Amino acid sequence: MINQIAIFREYLKSRDLRFTPERRLILEAILSLPGHFNIEGLYYKLHRKMGRLSLATIYRSIPHLINSGLIKEVMRYADRPQYEKSLGCPHHGHLVCINCGKILEFKDDEIEKLQDRVCREYDFKPTEHRLGIRGYCKNCRHKKGK
Ligand SMILES: [Zn+2]
Ligand SMILES: [Zn+2]
Repeated sequence: MINQIAIFREYLKSRDLRFTPERRLILEAILSLPGHFNIEGLYYKLHRKMGRLSLATIYRSIPHLINSGLIKEVMRYADRPQYEKSLGCPHHGHLVCINCGKILEFKDDEIEKLQDRVCREYDFKPTEHRLGIRGYCKNCRHKKGK
């Protein structure tokens, strides 16, 4: 956690931005969250702790957190981007349930190799890739008969 805070502070400094108490609180809240999160969820969590922190402040800090490499967008659910902490988090893909919003993570070496092969075939140097699959989780399918 100290590490992430140092990274964020350095990032902000390099862009002549201040490491404000609000930015610190937002980062600490994210670091304390397990798994995936969205801005509204983060807002509710922070709002209880610190009423004056606005949704706009959180929105504005998200690009900085992404650019500093601390978080990344996973996938959208109900028109809202879902994020996760990216530092020290091994690469994985996501299965997102469009009914209940559950996000499952998966890791598949075959898919990774396949993507590398595609890049080689097209003489393309990859810097990032994301794999997300939308659908219905087991629970929701059982409930709805899908
Ligand atoms: Zn579901
Ligand atoms: Zn994930």
